[in-house]
Formats: sequence, C-alpha cells, structure tokens
Amino acid sequence: MEAELRERVRRLLADHDPAGTDRLDFLRARFDAGLAWVHFPPGLGGLGAPRALQALVDAELEAAGAPDNDPRRIGIGLGMAAPTLLRYGTEEQKQRFLRPLWTGEEVWCQLFSEPGAGSDLAALATRAVPEGDGWRVDGQKVWTSTAHTARWAILIARTDPDLPKHRGITYFVCDMTDPGVEVRPLRQLTGEAEFNEVFLTGVRIPDTHRLGGVGEGWQVAQTTLNNERVAIGGQAMPREGGMVGVVAATWRERPELRTHELHQRLLKAWVDAEVARLAGERLRQQLAVGQPGPEGAAMKLAFARLAQELSGLEVELLGEEGLAYDDWTMRRPETVDFNGRQAGYRYLRAKGNSIEGGTSEILRNIIAERVLGLPAEPRTDKDMPWKELPR
Ligand SMILES: Cc1cc2nc3c(=O)[nH]c(=O)nc-3n(C[C@H](O)[C@H](O)[C@H](O)COP(=O)(O)OP(=O)(O)OC[C@H]3O[C@@H](n4cnc5c(N)ncnc54)[C@H](O)[C@@H]3O)c2cc1C
Repeated sequence: MEAELRERVRRLLADHDPAGTDRLDFLRARFDAGLAWVHFPPGLGGLGAPRALQALVDAELEAAGAPDNDPRRIGIGLGMAAPTLLRYGTEEQKQRFLRPLWTGEEVWCQLFSEPGAGSDLAALATRAVPEGDGWRVDGQKVWTSTAHTARWAILIARTDPDLPKHRGITYFVCDMTDPGVEVRPLRQLTGEAEFNEVFLTGVRIPDTHRLGGVGEGWQVAQTTLNNERVAIGGQAMPREGGMVGVVAATWRERPELRTHELHQRLLKAWVDAEVARLAGERLRQQLAVGQPGPEGAAMKLAFARLAQELSGLEVELLGEEGLAYDDWTMRRPETVDFNGRQAGYRYLRAKGNSIEGGTSEILRNIIAERVLGLPAEPRTDKDMPWKELPR
C-alpha cells in the first residue's frame, strides 16, 4: 500500500505540477486521486488505506511544494463535519458535501451551543418541527465560530420535547444561506469577533439534509464531539511546535529577560509540552485503528492547560512589553492565528481554550467516568421529559 501511495503521489505531481497549476484545481485533483483522506473510501477523497499512511502522503506533497487546503480556515469542516458525514451520511450526502468541504470551497460551522445549553448540551431548545418534506427550525445558537464565513452548518435541534433530553434530538445539515438564518458578530476578550450568535427563524431544512435517524441526534453528536476534542488537542506537531516553540524562541533570543525562576518554569512547561506531544502521537496511532474514544478528552485538556501556562509565562517574561496589545480594532478573522500575533493576543485568546470544545471541568468528568471508571455525577433529569425540565 505504501508503494502504491507513493506512486499515486508521483502521478498527481506529474499531471498537476504545483508550480503551474491553479490551487483549487490541484486540491480537486488530489481529492479525486484519493489522497485527501487516504482512509476514506474510494470516490470520497480516499483509498480505504490505513489512516497512519496519511502522514507519508502529506510529507511528500509538502516537500514538492503542493498547496495545502488551509486546514485552520476549514477546521470545523475537516475536524467535525467530515467524520460525522462519513459515519452517518447517506451516499448522496457524502457525494455532495465531502469534496468542497475538503478543498475549502465550502466552509462549515457548528450550531450546537445555545444560551441555555453549553456544557449541558442535551438541554438544547432549538426546535425542528416536521413541515412538508422537511423541517421548520426555530431557535438561537451561540458562540458559533466562523458562522460569518460558513456555507453549511452541522446543527442539532429538538424534535420531540416529550422525550427525555438526550432522546428527542435530531441532527441536520443547515444551509447558512437560507432565509431565516441570521448571523450576528460577538466580540471576544481579544477584541475580535471570531464567533457569532446565530438566530434561526422558520428555517426550512429538507429531510434529505438529516444525518442519522429522527431522535438519534445525540448519538450522532457524540461522533462530532469526540472528533472535536482530537481536532483541537491532538494535532500532529514537531518538537517545539505550537506555543512552546514561540516562548522558547523568545527565551533564546532575549537573554536579558531571563531569571532563574522563569527558567525553571519554562523547563517544566517544555517537558509537559513534549509529554503532551508524544501522548498525541500515541492517540493518533490508536485513531489509525478506530474512532477516537474518551482519551481525546485528555489531549484537549492538556492542550488548554499548556496554552494558558505558556502564554502566561511569555507575558511575564516580556514584562511591560508583554502587556502591550497590537490592535483592538474589531476584526472578523477566518482563522485563529496564535503564532502570527503578539504575546498579549496569545495570552487573551488562550483563555478560551479551556472553554471551547468542552470545558476543562466537563472533560475531567469524562475522564473520571469513562476512562477511570469512577462513580458518575448524580443526574436527576436523565429520564424526565425535556418539556418538564426547569429552564
Ligand atoms: C472560542 C470559543 C469558540 C466556540 N465555538 C463554538 C462553535 O463553533 N460552536 C458551538 O456550538 N459552540 C462553540 N463554543 C461554545 C462552547 O462549546 C461552550 O462555551 C462550552 O461548551 C461551555 O458551555 P457554556 O459556555 O454554556 O458554559 P456553562 O455550561 O454554563 O458552564 C459554566 C461553567 O460551569 C462549569 N460546569 C458546568 N457543568 C458542570 C458540571 N456538570 N461539572 C463541573 N463543572 C460544570 C463549566 O465547566 C464552566 O466552567 C465556543 C466557545 C468558545 C470559548
């Protein structure tokens, strides 16, 4: 298989010289050659090959100067929508959505959180009511990253308020350009509006855009959430990749800022970052043979803790200079660029890392219950009809 993949990469590069080929044409050809996600089925960007071989393909294409699909801009599509579509989508849905998702022609967002349903996501109140050959959706979502650039959304909505909260939810693909979808910017601590409120008023969703069975949305959402944690916390990294590299570089370049105490802290954080990186390698090996399990929660937790510790250390190291902020103008960025901005930005943005994609407290609960097998939190509302829950 390895030899076949190398040969396919060679052929792709011979037929589409990256230097002279339009970026999008190259990405489409790469998808069609089965080299987008090698573990996806043939015809859907893959070859049914072992997932671990993706790294080989990526490295060869990068070395040849091939364009990438800007994974940070389309992170929700790649990290959350694609694995969910692959597992629960119909053949038509997979054919329609996966190619433009992977090439980045269509950006995705995630309409999960609501003002009264964050950590307790199953309490969500957005309603989907059958109407004609589809559904009419009304409700409000919040903290929706990249909704302002998204063409499609993964959406969970309540379809049966008489059932207990986890059982009356259904999963849909929502067209963000449809009438009734209103996206309003929400400004963050950094001054940017990277996420949004999304109001859904009488939005019509055809039944062909349902993912999984009616009432089975919670189960489908578990696939999304498990993949989300891996997407946030389990990225492949070179040694000193990410935030630790930025702080270590400042340490090396600015000897006048060093103190013994900061040195001790940097060394400890460096070791933690390396442990997290190697644990991520192990997680990816596990992923090569199956779906991500609750272990992904540990990676996401470690990522958030490290990002906050390192960004705090950097600000302390830089003293007054670390407190300076580059620009408070409200921006609507398409990506989160940790490394391309100043220390003050990194410090403020990292605060969100322990909230987005599941808070650290909730991830600890998941680890306690599903990895360590400790007694579960008391859940008094598990079997109560959703409509009777106090809200
Ligand atoms: C930068 C950023 C981007 C985001 N992007 C998206 C997005 O694209 N799409 C989307 O749907 N959502 C998104 N979110 C929302 C995010 O998933 C939620 O904010 C998160 O799940 C927490 O929910 P909440 O804000 O309602 O807090 P709450 O659930 O109200 O929690 C408040 C606090 O109470 C704690 N807590 C709650 N329940 C328990 C418990 N049982 N045990 C212990 N502690 C508990 C929490 O951990 C937290 O510290 C984003 C958030 C951020 C910060």
